[in-house]
Amino acid sequence: GAMRNLPYFCRGEVVKGFGRGSKELGIPTANFSEQVVESFPSDIPTGIYYGWACVGNGDVHKMVLSIGWNPFYKNIKKSVETHIIHTFKEDFYGEILSIVITGYIRPEKNFDSLDALISAIQEDIEEAKRQLDLPEHLKLKEDNFFHLPEGKIVNN
Ligand code: ADP
Ligand code: MG
Repeated sequence: GAMRNLPYFCRGEVVKGFGRGSKELGIPTANFSEQVVESFPSDIPTGIYYGWACVGNGDVHKMVLSIGWNPFYKNIKKSVETHIIHTFKEDFYGEILSIVITGYIRPEKNFDSLDALISAIQEDIEEAKRQLDLPEHLKLKEDNFFHLPEGKIVNN
Protein backbone atom coordinates (compact mmCIF):
# COMPACT_ATOMS: atom_id res chain seq x y z
CA GLY A 1 0.00 0.00 0.00
CA ALA A 2 0.80 3.69 0.00
CA MET A 3 2.37 3.68 3.47
CA ARG A 4 4.89 0.96 2.77
CA ASN A 5 7.56 3.32 1.42
CA LEU A 6 7.07 6.03 4.07
CA PRO A 7 8.74 8.11 5.30
CA TYR A 8 10.26 8.82 1.90
CA PHE A 9 13.09 11.34 1.57
CA CYS A 10 13.77 13.06 -1.73
CA ARG A 11 15.76 16.00 -3.02
CA GLY A 12 15.92 17.51 -6.49
CA GLU A 13 15.70 20.56 -8.70
CA VAL A 14 12.39 22.38 -9.22
CA VAL A 15 11.55 22.38 -12.93
CA LYS A 16 8.87 23.98 -15.11
CA GLY A 17 5.64 22.01 -15.09
CA PHE A 18 3.20 21.66 -17.92
CA GLY A 19 1.20 24.77 -17.12
CA ARG A 20 -1.96 23.23 -15.79
CA GLY A 21 -2.53 26.55 -14.11
CA SER A 22 -2.03 25.41 -10.54
CA LYS A 23 -0.83 28.87 -9.58
CA GLU A 24 -3.95 30.48 -11.07
CA LEU A 25 -5.98 28.27 -8.73
CA GLY A 26 -3.94 29.61 -5.81
CA ILE A 27 -2.25 26.25 -5.36
CA PRO A 28 1.15 26.36 -7.09
CA THR A 29 2.92 23.00 -7.26
CA ALA A 30 6.70 22.71 -7.51
CA ASN A 31 7.45 19.94 -10.01
CA PHE A 32 10.39 17.55 -9.84
CA SER A 33 12.27 16.59 -12.99
CA GLU A 34 11.52 13.36 -14.82
CA GLN A 35 14.84 11.99 -13.53
CA VAL A 36 13.88 12.52 -9.88
CA VAL A 37 10.42 11.04 -10.49
CA GLU A 38 12.06 7.96 -12.04
CA SER A 39 14.02 7.48 -8.82
CA PHE A 40 10.78 7.00 -6.83
CA PRO A 41 9.79 3.44 -5.93
CA SER A 42 7.87 2.20 -8.98
CA ASP A 43 5.20 0.63 -6.76
CA ILE A 44 4.35 3.83 -4.87
CA PRO A 45 0.63 4.44 -5.51
CA THR A 46 -0.57 7.61 -7.19
CA GLY A 47 -2.55 9.89 -4.91
CA ILE A 48 -2.29 12.74 -2.42
CA TYR A 49 0.33 12.66 0.33
CA TYR A 50 1.65 15.10 2.95
CA GLY A 51 4.94 15.83 4.66
CA TRP A 52 7.64 18.45 5.07
CA ALA A 53 9.49 20.52 2.49
CA CYS A 54 12.30 23.02 2.29
CA VAL A 55 13.65 25.13 -0.58
CA GLY A 56 17.45 25.45 -0.68
CA ASN A 57 18.56 25.82 2.92
CA GLY A 58 15.40 27.70 3.88
CA ASP A 59 12.86 26.91 6.59
CA VAL A 60 11.02 23.59 6.72
CA HIS A 61 7.29 23.94 5.94
CA LYS A 62 4.26 21.67 5.80
CA MET A 63 3.38 20.44 2.31
CA VAL A 64 0.87 18.39 0.36
CA LEU A 65 2.11 16.37 -2.59
CA SER A 66 0.50 14.68 -5.52
CA ILE A 67 1.89 11.67 -7.30
CA GLY A 68 -0.06 11.48 -10.50
CA TRP A 69 0.06 10.47 -14.14
CA ASN A 70 1.97 12.91 -16.33
CA PRO A 71 -0.22 14.11 -19.21
CA PHE A 72 2.90 15.35 -21.04
CA TYR A 73 4.03 11.72 -21.42
CA LYS A 74 0.56 10.44 -22.37
CA ASN A 75 0.07 9.26 -18.77
CA ILE A 76 2.70 6.53 -18.98
CA LYS A 77 5.05 8.39 -16.63
CA LYS A 78 4.37 9.78 -13.21
CA SER A 79 4.63 13.38 -12.07
CA VAL A 80 5.46 14.47 -8.53
CA GLU A 81 4.26 17.93 -7.48
CA THR A 82 4.68 19.61 -4.10
CA HIS A 83 2.45 22.40 -2.81
CA ILE A 84 4.28 24.02 0.09
CA ILE A 85 1.91 25.44 2.70
CA HIS A 86 3.67 28.79 2.88
CA THR A 87 3.53 32.04 0.95
CA PHE A 88 6.78 32.71 -0.92
CA LYS A 89 7.78 36.15 -2.14
CA GLU A 90 9.14 34.75 -5.40
CA ASP A 91 9.13 31.65 -7.59
CA PHE A 92 11.96 29.21 -7.01
CA TYR A 93 12.46 27.40 -10.29
CA GLY A 94 15.96 25.88 -10.47
CA GLU A 95 16.34 25.66 -6.69
CA ILE A 96 16.79 22.42 -4.78
CA LEU A 97 13.62 21.20 -3.09
CA SER A 98 14.02 18.74 -0.21
CA ILE A 99 10.98 16.79 0.96
CA VAL A 100 10.05 14.01 3.29
CA ILE A 101 6.71 12.34 2.61
CA THR A 102 5.29 11.12 5.92
CA GLY A 103 1.66 10.19 5.23
CA TYR A 104 -1.02 9.39 2.66
CA ILE A 105 -4.39 11.12 2.31
CA ARG A 106 -6.32 9.65 -0.63
CA PRO A 107 -6.13 8.25 -4.15
CA GLU A 108 -6.28 10.43 -7.27
CA LYS A 109 -9.80 11.43 -8.26
CA ASN A 110 -11.58 13.11 -11.14
CA PHE A 111 -13.78 16.05 -10.27
CA ASP A 112 -16.95 17.28 -11.95
CA SER A 113 -16.00 20.92 -11.62
CA LEU A 114 -13.10 23.22 -10.87
CA ASP A 115 -14.84 24.29 -7.65
CA ALA A 116 -15.06 20.65 -6.52
CA LEU A 117 -11.35 20.19 -7.29
CA ILE A 118 -10.35 23.31 -5.39
CA SER A 119 -12.40 22.43 -2.32
CA ALA A 120 -10.97 18.89 -2.30
CA ILE A 121 -7.44 20.33 -2.35
CA GLN A 122 -8.35 22.75 0.44
CA GLU A 123 -9.58 19.80 2.51
CA ASP A 124 -6.35 17.93 1.73
CA ILE A 125 -4.38 20.94 2.99
CA GLU A 126 -6.38 21.08 6.24
CA GLU A 127 -5.94 17.33 6.74
CA ALA A 128 -2.18 17.64 6.12
CA LYS A 129 -1.90 20.50 8.64
CA ARG A 130 -3.68 18.44 11.32
CA GLN A 131 -1.74 15.23 10.71
CA LEU A 132 1.62 17.00 10.62
CA ASP A 133 1.05 18.37 14.14
CA LEU A 134 0.97 14.79 15.52
CA PRO A 135 4.26 13.73 17.16
CA GLU A 136 5.04 10.89 14.73
CA HIS A 137 4.93 13.31 11.78
CA LEU A 138 6.17 16.42 13.59
CA LYS A 139 9.43 14.69 14.55
CA LEU A 140 10.45 14.44 10.88
CA LYS A 141 10.45 18.22 10.57
CA GLU A 142 13.65 18.19 12.63
CA ASP A 143 15.28 15.38 10.65
CA ASN A 144 18.98 15.80 9.83
CA PHE A 145 18.05 15.33 6.18
CA PHE A 146 17.03 19.00 6.09
CA HIS A 147 20.43 20.10 7.39
CA LEU A 148 22.71 18.23 5.03
CA PRO A 149 25.47 20.20 3.31
CA GLU A 150 24.12 22.18 0.38
CA GLY A 151 24.18 20.49 -2.99
CA LYS A 152 24.24 16.98 -1.64
CA ILE A 153 21.61 15.01 -3.54
CA VAL A 154 20.16 12.03 -1.70
CA ASN A 155 17.21 9.96 -2.83
CA ASN A 156 16.74 7.43 -0.03
P1 ADP B 1 4.38 24.78 -13.14
O1 ADP B 1 3.40 24.21 -14.12
O2 ADP B 1 5.60 25.38 -13.79
O3 ADP B 1 4.76 23.78 -12.06
P2 ADP B 1 2.69 26.10 -11.15
O4 ADP B 1 1.52 26.96 -11.47
O5 ADP B 1 2.42 24.74 -10.58
O6 ADP B 1 3.62 26.01 -12.45
O7 ADP B 1 3.62 26.93 -10.14
C1 ADP B 1 4.73 26.28 -9.56
C2 ADP B 1 5.86 27.22 -9.18
O8 ADP B 1 5.38 28.24 -8.29
C3 ADP B 1 6.94 26.49 -8.41
O9 ADP B 1 7.88 25.88 -9.28
C4 ADP B 1 7.57 27.60 -7.58
O10 ADP B 1 8.63 28.23 -8.30
C5 ADP B 1 6.41 28.61 -7.39
N1 ADP B 1 5.81 28.59 -6.04
C6 ADP B 1 5.53 29.73 -5.33
N2 ADP B 1 4.96 29.44 -4.15
C7 ADP B 1 4.88 28.08 -4.07
C8 ADP B 1 4.39 27.17 -3.07
N3 ADP B 1 3.86 27.63 -1.92
N4 ADP B 1 4.46 25.85 -3.32
C9 ADP B 1 4.98 25.40 -4.49
N5 ADP B 1 5.46 26.20 -5.47
C10 ADP B 1 5.42 27.53 -5.29
MG1 MG C 1 3.31 22.69 -10.92
